[in-house]
Amino acid sequence: MLHFNKKPTFEQHDNEKENYYQNSSTKIDFISKLEDSIDADICIIGGGLTGISSALYLSKKGYKIVLIEARKIGWGASGRNGGQLGGGLRKDQKEVENKLGINQAKELWNLGIEAVEEVKENIKKYNIDCDLVNGVLTAGYYKDDESYFKNEAEHLLKQYNYDKYYFLNFSDIREEIDSKKYYSGLLNKGSYHLHPLKYLYGLAKEAKKNGVKIYENSPVSKISKKSDFLEVSINKYKVKCNLVVVGCNGYLDNLLGNIRNKFMPINNYILATESVNQDYASAIIKNNYAVCDTRFIIDYYRFSKDNRMLFGGGETFTSKFLENPKNFVKKRMNKVFPQLSKLKIDFCWGGTLAITVNRLPSFGSLNNNIIYAHGYSGHGVALSTLAGKLISEYVTGNKDRFHFFSSIQHQTIPGGDFVRRPIYSSAVAYYKLRDFIH
Ligand SMILES: Cc1cc2nc3c(=O)[nH]c(=O)nc-3n(C[C@H](O)[C@H](O)[C@H](O)COP(=O)(O)OP(=O)(O)OC[C@H]3O[C@@H](n4cnc5c(N)ncnc54)[C@H](O)[C@@H]3O)c2cc1C
Repeated sequence: MLHFNKKPTFEQHDNEKENYYQNSSTKIDFISKLEDSIDADICIIGGGLTGISSALYLSKKGYKIVLIEARKIGWGASGRNGGQLGGGLRKDQKEVENKLGINQAKELWNLGIEAVEEVKENIKKYNIDCDLVNGVLTAGYYKDDESYFKNEAEHLLKQYNYDKYYFLNFSDIREEIDSKKYYSGLLNKGSYHLHPLKYLYGLAKEAKKNGVKIYENSPVSKISKKSDFLEVSINKYKVKCNLVVVGCNGYLDNLLGNIRNKFMPINNYILATESVNQDYASAIIKNNYAVCDTRFIIDYYRFSKDNRMLFGGGETFTSKFLENPKNFVKKRMNKVFPQLSKLKIDFCWGGTLAITVNRLPSFGSLNNNIIYAHGYSGHGVALSTLAGKLISEYVTGNKDRFHFFSSIQHQTIPGGDFVRRPIYSSAVAYYKLRDFIH
């Protein structure tokens, strides 16, 4: 059985008509459904950035690849996210050092930088038009963020030779963002923002050119080990293969058994306003950076190429998706930008992502022939591209860099399928309260 007592997570929401990205990109054709049993060297499950980038990198090594997606390519978080392309992980670097030690922390940092460079390289190499813009600004919601920002920038410069952080004081941040919410800021000129679905379609098109067979509307219910091969079941059809790559992230459910307990699937929501003119947009965010704040439940936002405010924020933890998240997100946007409250909201959608306890990604393999990568904890645009590259290295025998990630220990979220959501919600309520008191 794929799920327990409820619809699979990939059937929990159906809000693609409300998704700005779907409405601003040209879908490419894939095979509409698997309607026969087939053979492949490698079967990839999940048509998000993890699955598609794995397909692309592996197809370049000459493997015969079949990719199976339950819904549509880019239907999951990869076609719904905030589009922030950052190298850092969802932790400040000193915290990573405390957890892993300086050497491993440095290696992790370098892999994060490589991940961003890899995305930029792909965009260039495959000529993907996906609205890439430089600069992500972390806006300090609290007064004491200022010392944290200064220390982080100084530490990264000294220890990592990273010179792309710029500290913004009170007047700088007010000049950069027309909101009264922030006290200071940290600009990262090594980070970017982009249209994630256009980027994903660009990679998928390239994978198709390399001979990858991509099937949509084909939910996998089981992966079975046979005597000398693996069998992936999709309704009554099977894919017979030697290796399986699983890239289902927040939508995984129990396809890999208890591995689902190593992360929490959470739902996050974004709105897109009507388009405004360039002067209006520049008055709100002077230099067109993407922005996120320093709270536990963050706001993140930016302008799209056609000058819509794309504002993300607000999370839910129940397995049920908010049917109409518009007011939920709008309330958060109005608090930051009361001057935008009169704008029409043209789109509002959400998606599910996987958060690990330590906020570091979770890679691994079962019996060396079922490989998975997920749990990017809100930093998956760059890391999932890197995951594809590292999975292809692993498959071709160069396992070190994949093992680097797979050796990171992940805590199990307690409570099993029925109680872990309430347990997690209570933990988050604590952090929300801390934010409130702060
Ligand atoms: C609202 C939101 C905002 C975000 N903002 C950012 C951001 O600004 N920057 C950033 O770096 N990250 C962000 N993220 C996270 C980022 O989008 C994800 O980490 C990343 O897209 C994960 O890619 P993936 O391919 O692993 O998973 P997904 O893109 O979720 O793809 C998984 C796919 O697997 C399919 N699937 C699941 N089960 C099965 C099955 N049994 N059979 C077949 N197919 C199956 C699903 O249908 C889905 O299409 C955000 C996420 C959300 C939801």
